[in-house]
This record gives sequence, C-alpha cells and structure tokens, in this order.
Amino acid sequence: MKKRIALFPGSFDPFTKGHQDIVLRGLNLFDEIVIAIGYNSQKDQRYFKIDFMIEKIQETFAKYPQIKVVTYSQLTADLARKYEARYLLRGLRNTTDFEYENSIAQVNRHLNAELESVFLITSPPFAAISSSIIREVHRYGGDVSVMLPYSL
Ligand code: ADP
Repeated sequence: MKKRIALFPGSFDPFTKGHQDIVLRGLNLFDEIVIAIGYNSQKDQRYFKIDFMIEKIQETFAKYPQIKVVTYSQLTADLARKYEARYLLRGLRNTTDFEYENSIAQVNRHLNAELESVFLITSPPFAAISSSIIREVHRYGGDVSVMLPYSL
C-alpha cells in the first residue's frame, strides 16, 4: 500500500508545543510527516533564525525517523507533489484560524486537486499558544519556556 505522507507547512517562528501536539497526533494518521518551514532567504523577516529553528525541531523529533524537517519557498501545493504528500496537515484553534484555513484550503484544492487538507483541533492545554504571542513575550524578556518543546 502507498505510504500516507502528510505535509505540515507553516512559518514556525517559533515552533511551539501546539505545533508539536498536531505533529504527534498526526502520526496516528500518517506514515510520514514532512514539517515544511516556509522561508525566503531573499527577504528574511524571521524573529528566530531559520537554522536554529530547523535544529530545534529536529531535536524535538529525534526519536521519530518518520518525521522530516525541510524549508521551502514555493507554492505549498507544488511542494506536496515534490514529497508525494497527498495530505496537508493543519491545526485549528478557533474561528479565526478556521476562516483563514478555509480560504487556504480552497486555493490549495484548486492548485493541486490530489491534495487533501486535514485539520486537527487543538488540544485544550495548547489552545492559547501562538507563535506571535511567544515572539512578543520573548522580545521583552519574558519567559516562554513552558510554550516550547525545547529550550532556547
Ligand atoms: P502559518 O504562518 O502558515 O499560519 P504557523 O506556524 O503559525 O503557520 O502555524 C502552522 C499551523 O499550525 C497552522 O495550521 C496553525 O493554525 C497551526 N497552529 C498554530 N498554533 C497552534 C496551536 N497552539 N494548536 C494547534 N494548531 C496550531
């Protein structure tokens, strides 16, 4: 049988416990998960350095050979073809996420009809975690360690 490969795309600036939860739960559904960090080296506007984040995500999933971390700057729908991923994994926290994810999923369906978007609802302990809040707290010297699966 064909391997079920899912792409989990995002900015991951930074990768959080919320993201980790989606990936680990995704392992119950998929044989392989490719965590794809959208990144354009020509206009790097990241808060956390890309190489640092790749290393931290790899460290987080060191025990899982079926999880891969890559960076990309192309259409997610095309990247999915490259990795033979038929599923696009995304997480949903609230209705704001839903509105946004709904539009992206419609576009992706148009760009790659073979790609099925799959949404996992956030686990309650991680519902309030967002990369943007972490950046904001970290910028002003606050402790963000409880929201990250690795140490900074
Ligand atoms: P993007 O910039 O593409 O929104 P993010 O890195 O912010 O990328 O998030 C990647 C995916 O993870 C998105 O589907 C987002 O909704 C989901 N996500 C982010 N934070 C959480 C969380 N705390 N719980 C569940 N899903 C989350």
